[in-house]
Amino acid sequence: MKFHAHICDLPTYEVGKPLELVMREYGIATNEIIKLGSNENPFGVSPKAKETIIQNAHLASVYPDDSYYELKESLSQHYNVAHDNIIIGNGSDQIIEFCIYALCDSNTRIVTAKTTFAMYDIYAKHCNARILKTPDFSHNLDSMLMFYKKYKPTIIFLCTPNNPLGEALKKQDILSFLSKINEDCLVVLDCAYMEYCIHKNNEYAIYPQDIIHFSNVIYLGTFSKLYGLGGMRIGYGIANASVIANLHKLRPPFNITTLSLKAAISSLKDVDFVEKSLHNNFIEMQKYQNFAFQYSIEFLESYANFITFLLHNKLNSTKIGILLLQEGIVVRDLASYGLNAIRITIGTPKQNEIVFKKLAAIIEKQRSME
Ligand SMILES: *Cc1c(COP(=O)(O)O)cnc(C)c1O
Repeated sequence: MKFHAHICDLPTYEVGKPLELVMREYGIATNEIIKLGSNENPFGVSPKAKETIIQNAHLASVYPDDSYYELKESLSQHYNVAHDNIIIGNGSDQIIEFCIYALCDSNTRIVTAKTTFAMYDIYAKHCNARILKTPDFSHNLDSMLMFYKKYKPTIIFLCTPNNPLGEALKKQDILSFLSKINEDCLVVLDCAYMEYCIHKNNEYAIYPQDIIHFSNVIYLGTFSKLYGLGGMRIGYGIANASVIANLHKLRPPFNITTLSLKAAISSLKDVDFVEKSLHNNFIEMQKYQNFAFQYSIEFLESYANFITFLLHNKLNSTKIGILLLQEGIVVRDLASYGLNAIRITIGTPKQNEIVFKKLAAIIEKQRSME
């Protein structure tokens, strides 16, 4: 069988290590593993969503209502947009996929930041579209605009806050950028961590409402991070109704499970859980910053639920990742991005205590070795 050459060349996306694998390799019990490699909510599932999943378990036998009316109603109230501005995806990943599949082929170009979410690249490669990355370390809208004028891309991805670096873009800067992009280029605002950003600094807050009047901009959100539903695979896109109508044509029927839909609705209502999670995130993030100061480690200011440490000298990210893994701690090594850096999801106070203790010991040992 002859697969497309561009498919054969595809890299495999490296996700945070599965718990089972860590366990097997180092003989660590599941309940002892500290999983801070994939930016999931460290408090787990929202209690309201959990209750809903249990109460509705019997519905697992039936197909969902394929219009996703109830969840769209919840999101439409949450964001003050209409139902026909919303598309639900199997994770917001799937909306990224729809956008790229709907617009790209081997003659098109996609512009992204140099170090950003790996899935843009992967879906682009499915279509053999060309990815062009701006040269700056983090998002730079001036460079993006230059690339836009020079290469005439079909899609521009802005990830704010950006995974894996944590930087965010100011609302005013985003809006001014959007006003300079013609409607034949789709701008995707990947806002998987926006709730954290809003909590931290309102200048960086952007809402779907701010962008739906553009005919060429889509806002992506997810239930996988703050809302604690990574395993339920549910996210959404919000845009002008005509963008949404076209993306809908790519959506397979029943792409969301009956229980995921119910869980997502409940998690949106779980205000206490959301508040607790946001509050914990920034209190604990300060501790990571203090730790970095104490050990003279460079860190990137983060608007999300993780912090990225840039390592130097005797500290190697891959080595540190493995040593932490042996202690039952999973973090994300950024070597695959060409960085000597680790990204750590902000955990619970108890988890972070353990990370500081183990990481301190590893750093001291590495630094003392010749
Ligand atoms: C986690 C993440 C997503 C989407 O996750 P889903 O689980 O597919 O909803 C999208 N973009 C970024 C930048 C992310 O970090």
